Amino acid sequence: MPLESEEALVIGSYVFKEQDKIVHLLTSHNGIQKIVAPGSSKGKNRFGSLLELFTEGEFFFYRKEDRELATLSKGDIITSYFDTVSEPGRIFYFYLIAEIVMKFVPPNFNTSRIYKLIKSVLDSSKDGAEMKYLILYFMVWILRIEGMMFEAGKCGTCHKTDLLKGWVMSDYRGIVCNKCRREESVILRKRGIEFVEWTKRNDTSGKFEGMSDEDSKNIFRILKNKIEYHGEFSLNSPRYLSSLI
Ligand SMILES: [Zn+2]
Repeated sequence: MPLESEEALVIGSYVFKEQDKIVHLLTSHNGIQKIVAPGSSKGKNRFGSLLELFTEGEFFFYRKEDRELATLSKGDIITSYFDTVSEPGRIFYFYLIAEIVMKFVPPNFNTSRIYKLIKSVLDSSKDGAEMKYLILYFMVWILRIEGMMFEAGKCGTCHKTDLLKGWVMSDYRGIVCNKCRREESVILRKRGIEFVEWTKRNDTSGKFEGMSDEDSKNIFRILKNKIEYHGEFSLNSPRYLSSLI
């Protein structure tokens, strides 16, 4: 059986048939793939820390004709993010990133930009950047990559620009100005608008200063609700992020 290989990030796994695990991989450009890792739910196994959340590796696997899932044969770690990802102050943010990717990325989506986005979040986190910003940056950009992020400073009805605050449309497709608003009640604050614009011109190593806790909670709630609305699901991980909800 010919071996195939993928460069990928581990975004989740669960025990399957007692000894095995099913591992979800975000590949560098071939979408999300599920593979069986035989024997990997045993304490000591040949894959070691390859299958930890957000380990980046080269994964070699084969397919049997009668099986739906490919089987992992071996893998090499390219970059381990274990120390960063497993830190108590960071782990729940990474659970949320993994949950969003698993639920929100359509099958067969070209994942190259999402892969780069997560790599830059991981690298900046490793360099000590605050997760509170990285999670918001990630949420804005995954929406943008999937073509769903709105222009934060522009009214979606009259197209007035440079808004200082906006009211979020009930279908989360944009914001409206004070004159155009009808039933909308959720406000996107000034700092939130500026942050969304800022993410267009800056990468994760940049610093966005002066966002209060209220500002970051405000934008987090709007982005979370927007992702849930478009994806038609609920996210479980935010409940652990008490600083943002
Ligand atoms: Zn307007």
